Amino acid sequence: MTPRAVEQNPVVMLNASVWHIVESGRASDVALCGLPLRERRAHSRLRTVGRENVCPACLRGYDQPPGSPPS
Ligand SMILES: [Zn+2]
Repeated sequence: MTPRAVEQNPVVMLNASVWHIVESGRASDVALCGLPLRERRAHSRLRTVGRENVCPACLRGYDQPPGSPPS
């Protein structure tokens, strides 16, 4: 198994005007925050677009994945 910590730079998808994190890459049709990606316009990487430009709900889910104890 690959430790999750290795993935520090996940794929992000531009849906309408907001970047969302997608865990399964550009094949994903749902963002990490649960939003259906119906207006996919581009994909990039978290570090490329910057955390300040990414959906806050996605960032929360990424920093604290469900099922993981808070650190
Ligand atoms: Zn999101």
